[in-house]
Amino acid sequence: MPDSRGPLPDKLHEECGVFAVCAKGNAESRKNPVELVLGGLTALQHRGQESAGIALGGFEDPDRLELARAAGLVTSLIETGEPARLSSGEAGIALGHVRYSTTGGSGIENAQPLVGHSRKGAVALAHNGNLVNSAILRELLEDGGSLFRTESDSEVMLNLIARSLPKKSALEAVRDAIRTVQGSYALVVMTGGMLIAARDKNGIRPLCVGETDGYWVVSSETCALDAVGAAFLRDVQPGEIVVADRDGISGSNREEKTETRTCSFEYIYFARPDSVIDGIGVYGARVRSGRKLFQEAPVEADLVSGVPDSGIPAAAGFSEASGIPYGMALVKNRYVGRSFIAPDQEDRERRVALKHNALKEAVYGKRIVLIDDSIVRGTTMRSLVAKLRGAGATEVHIRIAAPPVAYPCYFGIDTPYRSELISNRYEIGELTKQIDADSMAFLSIDGLMEALAGTSRFCTGCFAGVYPVGAPLPTEVEGHV
Ligand code: 5GP
Ligand code: MG
Repeated sequence: MPDSRGPLPDKLHEECGVFAVCAKGNAESRKNPVELVLGGLTALQHRGQESAGIALGGFEDPDRLELARAAGLVTSLIETGEPARLSSGEAGIALGHVRYSTTGGSGIENAQPLVGHSRKGAVALAHNGNLVNSAILRELLEDGGSLFRTESDSEVMLNLIARSLPKKSALEAVRDAIRTVQGSYALVVMTGGMLIAARDKNGIRPLCVGETDGYWVVSSETCALDAVGAAFLRDVQPGEIVVADRDGISGSNREEKTETRTCSFEYIYFARPDSVIDGIGVYGARVRSGRKLFQEAPVEADLVSGVPDSGIPAAAGFSEASGIPYGMALVKNRYVGRSFIAPDQEDRERRVALKHNALKEAVYGKRIVLIDDSIVRGTTMRSLVAKLRGAGATEVHIRIAAPPVAYPCYFGIDTPYRSELISNRYEIGELTKQIDADSMAFLSIDGLMEALAGTSRFCTGCFAGVYPVGAPLPTEVEGHV
């Protein structure tokens, strides 16, 4: 999390996943809500591995709130034994969070759900996204006497809700809070016997609603609905607030103007390929990007391969469009931790070196097209080209199923400082040399839009430098680490 007191650097903050269930009052039998949420969070594990947490509350007693959080994976949370101790006999509400943090702040103290107690009862909140006006809001709240326990912008949201609660209904309190914040949020809140879910007016981060035996379900991605056997009902609309309680579920739109600008990077990299966001399957979008990439930048070669895992669907599309056979060129070691968020370049390089091996018997003597979903600092690609050459590839052609990431993201994707973005530093010719590829091409922004849906309903801020939120954006701090 950023220090929300200072000017925000152009560093990206965090992605996360949220999952929540609310018991239907009239259900005869139901699953254990804690198990449901843990299952959902496990399916959202790709959205964050720094911490996991779950909060449980009931309908009868507004003060009831139980909480279990742990640093690390959902399995680490389960291994603490705490979730198993949460009482779950009574019908109620449970919500959970998996957190992706970048450098620093990955400790338990910033883990979500965040909780608080107001005169009206307990409040628990889990948030995916980034608020762009949290620094000023925090200052105002602190001037008014609010205390903060974390550096998290999500805590600003919690405080805003808590402030309105004494005078207003739970729904009005959440409405007030989200009228005040700007930025991206997919939010689940439990208070007053209600589960309230909200998506920002641009729908930057995904959020959907489902249903399973005895429960309404809210999830960042549809893959988690599948995982717990829940049926998909619909996406939460941009600017919509959905309320579930024991009597049912309903949605209401905010009066504020909405304009869909879902994060295109969710489709490119972040979401799981078996998720469907706003009616567009992530897998299909990736395959179409690969096809489009061949149309925009064809090349002759013997083998098309994708960087595991997220480059693979685009490589399938490229192979299909080009007629060049698809095959494995790299083997990924699943047990090497994430190279991308290691704090320094040396560490990132060391991890990337351990992460992939070239498959010599598949690449020796061949002209290879290697597809990845994106290039950020260039660490991964530089290492992979060297490995393919070392294994005897005669030519290595790089195709990237996204436009160059040349600008920071203020809404939750983990792009580094602008000065570290390799596409911000080099033109394509110089970049090809730097990576040591025989040729290199990126998908165009228009090509990406076509691959996604043929419309421009997406945020392309990290590619184009134009952002959907009109609010004053965080001050850019160049070259600051
Ligand atoms: P690079 O090595 O160029 O810095 O990063 C690109 C690689 O990291 C690609 O293989 C891509 O799949 C992955 N990647 C892109 N964006 C993100 C992100 O926000 N977080 C993480 N962990 N990986 C990313
Ligand atoms: Mg990758």
